[in-house]
Amino acid sequence: MREIIIIGSGPAGFTAAIYAARAGLNPLLLASSVEAGGELMNTTEVENFPGFPEGIQGPDLMMKLQEQAEKFGTEVILDDVTSLHLDGDIKTVHTGYSGTFEARSVIFATGSAYRKLGLADEERLSGRGVSWCATCDGFFFKTKTIAVVGGGDSAMEEATFLTRFAEKVYVVHRKDTLRASKIMQERAFQNEKIEFVWNSEVVGISGESAVEALSLRDTVTGEQSELPVQGLFVAIGNDPRVHLVHGQLDLTADGTIAVQGRSSKTNLPGVFAAGDVIDPHYRQAVTAAASGTVAALDAEQFLAALDQVEESSRVDLAAALADEVDDLVAAD
Ligand SMILES: Cc1cc2nc3c(=O)[nH]c(=O)nc-3n(C[C@H](O)[C@H](O)[C@H](O)COP(=O)(O)OP(=O)(O)OC[C@H]3O[C@@H](n4cnc5c(N)ncnc54)[C@H](O)[C@@H]3O)c2cc1C
Repeated sequence: MREIIIIGSGPAGFTAAIYAARAGLNPLLLASSVEAGGELMNTTEVENFPGFPEGIQGPDLMMKLQEQAEKFGTEVILDDVTSLHLDGDIKTVHTGYSGTFEARSVIFATGSAYRKLGLADEERLSGRGVSWCATCDGFFFKTKTIAVVGGGDSAMEEATFLTRFAEKVYVVHRKDTLRASKIMQERAFQNEKIEFVWNSEVVGISGESAVEALSLRDTVTGEQSELPVQGLFVAIGNDPRVHLVHGQLDLTADGTIAVQGRSSKTNLPGVFAAGDVIDPHYRQAVTAAASGTVAALDAEQFLAALDQVEESSRVDLAAALADEVDDLVAAD
């Protein structure tokens, strides 16, 4: 049986692995078969991860994190977790083709998925004008014209934030009213750089090596038009990857895994969660990494406490046996 199994190979999972491995816990990290490395595998330049003043390509950063985790003794398996049993002292983790693993603790760090528009060129131009994260990529759009798709709070927040860099920000929305809170709407309406494109959906993205224009379809008339932009921010929501723990771990109203205070402790002893899967707000590589640290330290403490309980019950048992032997000897 393992001391600790980490599920997920994003910044949260690998950072948890670095800490757990350095604590001598020989972690097993299940990294997924097709999406190993997490969200940063889908991006190009990462300029805000501390320690890389020149920036670093997303996949290179993830390779370095994996290398660092393996250097200290993490075993990484490229396989998907298909189901989990987290209740009780022994946690069981079933995988696609590597079999079943058992551990005394589990760190769940499966991240969250930005909702996509589902357009053919969306993936191809990801990191080349198409983005899901204004905090991450806004800086690359200085003096550019860009579009934000969405009508909720996060779309308004992204659009308003992006006006710090972009010359013009279109907000493309399928309806003629917004879902966003009143205050977020007003802030966006008052911003001179923001122009709303109502009753419109993006049906195409064009550009050879970078975004050049969007094809829009009017949701009322069906008419098509072109909107020349150099960037597209998709802000239509986010789904924490929690399907494996439904019915086992408590969730928040945002759909993330509920943890106790600033810790990574879930409702089940020995089960910890870290990264974007617990975070409805910040969702950055460095916050995910920090959260992985918290989870590893929590798991380490949990295991040490468990060892202590087991040790003292062994001592109690030995003392009880010794008393019994004494009694038997005295009776003779
Ligand atoms: C295009 C893009 C650009 C970004 N740019 C930046 C940036 O410049 N700076 C920044 O700080 N942040 C950036 N972010 C955000 C950042 O990538 C995330 O906040 C961060 O990756 C979250 O880390 P995580 O470890 O929680 O989850 P993730 O990185 O999402 O990793 C989750 C991991 O869990 C694995 N997993 C899921 N289900 C299973 C399963 N069943 N079995 C096994 N494994 C599983 C996945 O395969 C993945 O490896 C960007 C995000 C995107 C999408």
